[in-house]
Amino acid sequence: MASDVLLEVEDLRTYYPIRGGVLQRTIGQVKAVDGVSFVIRRGETFGLVGESGCGKSTVGRTILRLVSKTSGSVKFRGTNIYELNKAKLRGLRPQMQFVFQDPYSSLNPRVKVGDAIAEPLIDHGLCGKAEAMERAKEVLQLCGMAPYHYDRYPHEFSGGQRQRIGIARALILQPDFIIADEPVSALDVSIQAQIINLFRDLQEARGLTYLFISHDLSIVEHLCTTIGVMYLGTMMELGPKCELFANPLHPYTKALLSAVPVSNPETRRERIVLKGDLPSPANPPSGCKFHTRCPLAVEQCRTEVPDYRDMGGEHYVACHLV
Ligand code: SF4
Repeated sequence: MASDVLLEVEDLRTYYPIRGGVLQRTIGQVKAVDGVSFVIRRGETFGLVGESGCGKSTVGRTILRLVSKTSGSVKFRGTNIYELNKAKLRGLRPQMQFVFQDPYSSLNPRVKVGDAIAEPLIDHGLCGKAEAMERAKEVLQLCGMAPYHYDRYPHEFSGGQRQRIGIARALILQPDFIIADEPVSALDVSIQAQIINLFRDLQEARGLTYLFISHDLSIVEHLCTTIGVMYLGTMMELGPKCELFANPLHPYTKALLSAVPVSNPETRRERIVLKGDLPSPANPPSGCKFHTRCPLAVEQCRTEVPDYRDMGGEHYVACHLV
């Protein structure tokens, strides 16, 4: 493993049991994540994209052990985090933090936001209450808020401010790695740009590494260095951002990209509209999982799973026709 690799995810699978009958026996499985592999290097922003329900959020939660994996491995700085006992995992937690889509739901409405930000410091026994308060005020300022916001309650803030509070809460433990799950999708477009800029500024100031999860390629375009495209729990294409935008290989990536607005009016992209809904991960299509919606599908696609192939230049794709 290269020394600059911070996170290494290998053949990760997260299946949820479907129970039924009087005895609530397991009668099937939802394959939310179904064999995903990628690495994230220090200082990189890795964008994980795909439609709602494709398993990208479950990847983030499985990496942090917020949900359990079914198989595969997750290594952080070379340590397999699924081999750690509770105490060692707790010791690692400050280095890996999560920013939620809706910070309001993760904030207690009866707790002052400053106390909510300071709480992890006290929980981990890293300092006393007075110092935790000071550090919470500092991190609020770092996130574009004022120290007097410490004493206010979550309902007193707008959506954009609440996301800044969510980011401050993730930053208080001085992590190296942040997983941000759709952190701007609930915000107005103008506020989205502010929060994206905040993520970028914090990365420069603190050398952070991000896994940025989004359904919107136009958002990850401005922040990410590498992009992985997921469909029904499987990675369909992965590569450096510039390469992926200039030379998308997978029909699904091409369809997602065709919906991204272009700034140059002379550069036109033909919109590819996918037919049908995302199939259920409890009963995914055979062969290539995308074949039921792929405009290029051939007979082979219905029966054979395409290999995930290295196309050179760290560009990977799973499609029979590439
Ligand atoms: Fe489409 Fe077949 Fe390629 Fe899958 S393998 S993306 S169905 S052409």
